[in-house]
Amino acid sequence: MFKRNMKTSIFVTVLILCSFVWSAAIAKDSIKLYQVSSGVLKFDKGWLTAMRDVGKILEFPVAMYIIDHPRGLLLYDTGMNAAVSDGKCESYWGKGLCSAFMPIQRRDEVIDKWLEKFGYSVDDVKYVVTSHMHLDHAGNMEMFPKAVHVLQKAELKAAWWPEKFQRAAFVLKDYDNARDFNYLQLDGDFDLFGDGSVVVLDTKGHTQGHQSLMVKLKNTGTLFLAGDAVYTPENEAGVIPGITWNTYESMKSIDRLKMLRDSHQGSIWYSHGIDQYAEHKHDTYYD
Ligand SMILES: [Zn+2]
Repeated sequence: MFKRNMKTSIFVTVLILCSFVWSAAIAKDSIKLYQVSSGVLKFDKGWLTAMRDVGKILEFPVAMYIIDHPRGLLLYDTGMNAAVSDGKCESYWGKGLCSAFMPIQRRDEVIDKWLEKFGYSVDDVKYVVTSHMHLDHAGNMEMFPKAVHVLQKAELKAAWWPEKFQRAAFVLKDYDNARDFNYLQLDGDFDLFGDGSVVVLDTKGHTQGHQSLMVKLKNTGTLFLAGDAVYTPENEAGVIPGITWNTYESMKSIDRLKMLRDSHQGSIWYSHGIDQYAEHKHDTYYD
């Protein structure tokens, strides 16, 4: 009897192990990742790289991601609000923010149009992971009332009551109707599907609850979608980011992403990196 039970339990254990390996392999095999941009922002590079290139006005991409995982479609950031499109910035952001950030966004560069372009609809989106709640990253959260919104609890609190010195970049009307959405309120890292393929990483510093996303792709390798934790390659090389809630935490998060990048032999994808964005493909997916 004992022997038979042993045999059965060994068989079950092997079966469970196989199914874990199999499900992880399936997930990794079939993840598709699209990198797109919510138009561009035109501002002083010194805002991104402290004491470097101050006064240099450039056009920066505003990266966002559509990730098709076997267990659901997710977004990493939703870009600038649709109302900012086609030169209509002032009626939504107001004169001060529009002249500071100078957004140039066509309506067809808003996240819902990108989803349509790749054959999805806003209702297909199961999770919205928002790096942080600044105006160029959380602008279209309210387009996804049915999705689960994945955010750090610290960021949610900061967005509704930002520090005075950080207030300008939070546009309350981007999310004032999103108070009763379904939130996955995190306090640190989180493996979204439990298979290690999409992992939210605590990278506070740029804001109080900033988070990045690690995505494991079969052919492309492991990507670290940095959000504003690493704006540009200069930040990766050690230049302090221009705008931060906490510079010390910000530099610690950059180091954390670099260490993870090295241990996973992956790469860091910036939120506002001009050259890197230009080198990437945007009309199809990475897998
Ligand atoms: Zn940004």
